[in-house]
Amino acid sequence: MLKAAVLAGLLLPVSVRCTPVNGHCSGGVELKLSAPQASQGSLLLAQLRSPKSLREVTGKWNERNVYFWARGSSAAARRGAGNHLNEALLGVDLEKAPGDYELLVSATTENGEHAECTATLAVRAGKFATESLTVQKQFVEPNEQQAQRAVAEQEKLRQIFDHITPEKLWHGPFRLPLIGGVRGTNFGKRRILNGQSRPPHTGADFPAPTGTPIHATQSGRVVLAEELYFSGNTVIIDHGLGIYSLYGHLSATDVAVGDDVKAGAVIGKVGATGRVTGAHLHWGVTVNKARVNPIQLVAQTVIR
Ligand SMILES: [Zn+2]
Repeated sequence: MLKAAVLAGLLLPVSVRCTPVNGHCSGGVELKLSAPQASQGSLLLAQLRSPKSLREVTGKWNERNVYFWARGSSAAARRGAGNHLNEALLGVDLEKAPGDYELLVSATTENGEHAECTATLAVRAGKFATESLTVQKQFVEPNEQQAQRAVAEQEKLRQIFDHITPEKLWHGPFRLPLIGGVRGTNFGKRRILNGQSRPPHTGADFPAPTGTPIHATQSGRVVLAEELYFSGNTVIIDHGLGIYSLYGHLSATDVAVGDDVKAGAVIGKVGATGRVTGAHLHWGVTVNKARVNPIQLVAQTVIR
């Protein structure tokens, strides 16, 4: 129901029901994950509660840092104990090998005491359909020059996603990039293009007429606005703390690198540039280098 509502883009639910999973903690803190298990391409919310305010909160999952932010001083926190809340988004890459992975969270209280939690997160294989599509030959069998361009662009994207901006550049929930309840589909689908197997689809596709305005999912800084070989005219927004959103196949781009955009700002228009079978928006989200289902970013942050 919740998911259906978010997918439909018709209403934003007022809360997310977390299935509490307590990590093993010392130092009087409590760790909860929004789900006991995760599947490839999913996004989890980690919440660390403490009766005392915490100075430093760091996390490590599968040898990658997990970036926490303080939820801020709510009225409840001012009233008393147990309400200092730090949160982090934990991305599970689309192609992460299934298995058990340990999450380690460390914190220092305002008194200088050490607190620590561990939790094991089981990653299951995602269930992704396979689809066969026919696209222009150059996108399946690029010539040498096109192939070199695609490789160089891939490296550029890798460098962008490797960079972690330490500030949280957003406030409040993330939103769908198109207005009007357009559904995003195809995340994770295995793809056969012109009869050849290709890597899985890393975002959600929103079919819409060319010219439909595209809105920034949240505030942040534009770090890429150019035409790429596969994704056509592309915009990438850095939201800070390792969270990036990517918008592909645009017919027009309304922002430039370095622009600070507000949540919901129009950043471009739907188009059919790059490797497409028709006009649509390709929306991708990367969380700490993990390619995750962008719809889950909306679902996991509705209460923020
Ligand atoms: Zn796509």
